[in-house]
Amino acid sequence: MSLPKLPAIRELVKLFGLSAKSQLGQNFILDKNITDKIVRTASLAADTPLVVEVGPGPGLLTRSILDTPVPNVVVIEKDPRFQPTLTQLAEATQHRVKVLQGDALRTPHAAILEKAGMDLTTARDLPIPSVHIMGNLPFNIATPLLLQWLHMIPEAQGLFGVSNKGAIMTLMFQKEVGDRMAAPVSSHERGRLAVMTQSVCDVEKVYKVPSTVFVPKPKVDASVIQMTPKKVKLLDDAATYKTLENLLRFYFTKKRKTVGHITKRLIKEVGSEHQESVAALEDILDFQARPSDIDTPAYCQAAKHLHHHGIFIP
Ligand code: SAM
Repeated sequence: MSLPKLPAIRELVKLFGLSAKSQLGQNFILDKNITDKIVRTASLAADTPLVVEVGPGPGLLTRSILDTPVPNVVVIEKDPRFQPTLTQLAEATQHRVKVLQGDALRTPHAAILEKAGMDLTTARDLPIPSVHIMGNLPFNIATPLLLQWLHMIPEAQGLFGVSNKGAIMTLMFQKEVGDRMAAPVSSHERGRLAVMTQSVCDVEKVYKVPSTVFVPKPKVDASVIQMTPKKVKLLDDAATYKTLENLLRFYFTKKRKTVGHITKRLIKEVGSEHQESVAALEDILDFQARPSDIDTPAYCQAAKHLHHHGIFIP
């Protein structure tokens, strides 16, 4: 499905006077080799039910997505200055791409699906290939957006519930954020973000993208990270995910102490009726280790144990 001839992105940027707005995290990629490479990572195909791109800007990554046979693309862009170029792209593709103007953090997934011509109640859990979420994310909303999506995965909400395989995310983050998301056990970068991401997804650092690729050039390099919802779940529901989040906050704010020491403090903070159950965490977590040495399945098991005993972590 080749695209009709369109003005080059560099020309469009010049034509519409689209200077980058730093408050919207605008660092554009104007080299199609790079956007093609990102899209190849996602292995999009004619039976991919939907691709959602966050922050298309002038639309070069969108063009790379549209060079694949994927039939249905929804883009969400906050900056109204890109409407003319994105509308042109929608018209040139007979609306294979649909444009939603707004804040991705506040756009309900039902609205994205409606734009795509899909209804969540009928589309839910279909035995079809995964939906894809893609984007060169604006650095200022990348982490909040990721956390919002991670919360939705345990109960397969929104885009994560369309296919029974969930939604695969192929996203550009600042390198330091990507390193924290993919951090292995006992590494320097290991913290809450690693465990929360890895509790619901398999995380792969696909490749590093040097800052020189972006216009304007940001201060730091970036990484493309791919996240695939886990086939075998470590957590059963959103409530247990919330317990995990609280547990990690409690343990990682004292990350230099041993897990045993931190657990003793937790015992003091929960009601007396729960103290024995919290002490039983010793069967799950290595009390001699530091928080960054505990693996993700053990943290998930600890969260399930606490949730099962109705323990709320302050
Ligand atoms: N995809 C383009 C590229 O790779 O060249 C632009 C990427 S730029 C890093 C981030 C884009 O996200 C910008 O177009 C910016 O306007 C848009 N954006 C910023 N905040 C947003 C938000 N809350 N919701 C949707 N889009 C947003």
